[in-house]
Amino acid sequence: MKIPCELKFFSKRASAGYALQPVDPLFRFTPPSWRYALFPQGVRTVRTSPLETDPFLFRRFADCSFSPDSYLCFADRFGTLTGGCDALPLIASFHTVVLEALNIQPGVPRWLIASRSKHLSAHLRLAPGALRRRSGGKFANVLHVILRDGLRAKIEKPSAFSLLPMMVLKPRNLMVAIALQTARHLAGETKSVVQCLQCSEYFEVGPTTGRRSTSMFCSRKCQERHRYIIRKRSRD
Ligand SMILES: [Zn+2]
Repeated sequence: MKIPCELKFFSKRASAGYALQPVDPLFRFTPPSWRYALFPQGVRTVRTSPLETDPFLFRRFADCSFSPDSYLCFADRFGTLTGGCDALPLIASFHTVVLEALNIQPGVPRWLIASRSKHLSAHLRLAPGALRRRSGGKFANVLHVILRDGLRAKIEKPSAFSLLPMMVLKPRNLMVAIALQTARHLAGETKSVVQCLQCSEYFEVGPTTGRRSTSMFCSRKCQERHRYIIRKRSRD
């Protein structure tokens, strides 16, 4: 049975961006450079709907490197994962969940392998043993635990736009929204995703996307630019 439903997700991003501030570590082996959290700067925020503006947000998150600066850059563009202050080890722990779910083998730092269950358990308010049980011992499955915890389904009353009540799915925060995008991608609901050879932007290929499954460029402009560079290189 398939039920039509709408996905609603709004998030907030600090207008002035984020900054790293020291916090007490949850785990004593956390290296000194990771004993920080991202804090919003100032009180002004911008309302965003990141899932709509960027269907490949999960890829962009997966593309971050395991570094505080990389997570700071991501937050400045899209906001924090929890909507409040994110401790760096929590971001890195969720990062490994997404990478493993996408079957990308990351070079996970050893201290993080030892502590990631603890950081995510604390965030999900679960005992580490309960997290391991619920994810069947497979770390990539923590994705489903995050979805179970943070995805709310609601029936919304008829509105000016629809005469019938509508089922609405609401991710609690950006972390759940990224988990949902990743799960949707794994379920094959998004078409094949390719990265443009010229500008590195992600785009979909295959039937109904208007692009051949062999496409290598996101646009004609990128294709021409690439050709121009190759020609110029062979002339020089
Ligand atoms: Zn391109």
